[in-house]
Amino acid sequence: MADMRPMHSTDGPADETVDRTALDEAVRFTSDLIRIDTTNRGGGDCRERPAAEYVAERLAAAGLEPVLSERTPGRTNVVARVEGGDPSAEALLVHGHLDVVPAEAADWSVHPFSGEIRDGVVWGRGAVDMKNTDAMVLAVVRAWARAGVKPRRDIVLAFTADEEDSAIDGSGFLADHHPHLFDGCTEGIGESGAFTLHAGRGRPLYPIAAGERGTAWLKLTAHGTAGHGSKPNRANAVTRLAAAVARIGAHEWPVRLTDTVTACLTELASLQGLSVNPRARDTDLDALLDKLGPAAGLVEATLRNSANPTMFEAGYKLNVIPGHATAYVDGRVLPGGEAEFIATLDELTGPDVRWEFHHREVALEAPVTGRTYGILRESVEHFDPEGRAVPFCMAGGTDAKQFSRLGITGYGFSPLKLPPGYDYWSLFHGVDERVPVDALHFGVRVLDRALRTL
Ligand SMILES: [Zn+2]
Repeated sequence: MADMRPMHSTDGPADETVDRTALDEAVRFTSDLIRIDTTNRGGGDCRERPAAEYVAERLAAAGLEPVLSERTPGRTNVVARVEGGDPSAEALLVHGHLDVVPAEAADWSVHPFSGEIRDGVVWGRGAVDMKNTDAMVLAVVRAWARAGVKPRRDIVLAFTADEEDSAIDGSGFLADHHPHLFDGCTEGIGESGAFTLHAGRGRPLYPIAAGERGTAWLKLTAHGTAGHGSKPNRANAVTRLAAAVARIGAHEWPVRLTDTVTACLTELASLQGLSVNPRARDTDLDALLDKLGPAAGLVEATLRNSANPTMFEAGYKLNVIPGHATAYVDGRVLPGGEAEFIATLDELTGPDVRWEFHHREVALEAPVTGRTYGILRESVEHFDPEGRAVPFCMAGGTDAKQFSRLGITGYGFSPLKLPPGYDYWSLFHGVDERVPVDALHFGVRVLDRALRTL
């Protein structure tokens, strides 16, 4: 479809198809969606349907045909397809979740579900995670409809339930029971990435997520001989389990540099004027991290696998040795790191303690060379020429894990330009979650440019 606006000199698409209306809608939709309380307390205690209906109405008004689907009544997902201009191109998935984590109103400066806009800032639960992105994507596709613009590829929009718990009512349900809605999708764009990270020295960074560690939540069980607490006992389940848990907690996991983390380290070093091959034998990684300053935080959690003991259950009376004891461990596994993780756990638990996966999700890694990553990077740097996009691997996970079952490679890309002093990480699930109106305007422009071109 013809776009009559002037072309940018780098022969990319026109600078903007977004109009004033799109910018205003991104702000209003963010505020409106925050006011629709979709708190996910876990265990099925959440109701996304009113937010899903809000989104679906706005998609339908733009000429799209949203499909609403539920595994559980009230836990609604919305999927719609935007037709692309190149029928031979593979489709692109753009996904955002509609649920939010709980917020204690007493702790907040404004009510967390007020969606209040004060001094150029939108306040409330979901302002960064991630009703802002849902709103920006909505605003962009509605602007395309007004301007008669088609993206290059078909774009499948998915607004999901239940990301903040198990995804069983959300992306997991969609991937398993409605895979046809994602026909042709090979790549996906989701949350956590492309926000400004003021890392101290030099240019602001825009970390683009190109990987996720896997989830390995473990249940440990020790069996032993039950008996009186006053008697000798060489098969005490509590002692056995405590020893295994202590070994796991104290274990120093070796550094394993994945492609994403290597690329991140290389780029961060080059921004400091250092030419470093992080994988070279003579590279002193600790010294390198020191030189990177606060930017080192982008890789510190993803240099290695991890396993943190979090729960311990044993016994029922002080003078009775129980026959078994149970503990839980939050394990996170690098892309390519699962075999080593399993072998290490076998060794650390030893012969007296059994372990199993209580919950298990794959690790992901997407290419950081090539066309797609290049366009994501260019789109951000185009609108913030001072900024520098860098790839990173997320320490935890998103809906991208579920969609990976459909062969979809995922990037985290929810662009926001944030002023210095604005700590994005601490607002994620934090108190006084909020987003500047200007940041949303920036995000709409970047998403428009990226999604049309991809
Ligand atoms: Zn999120």
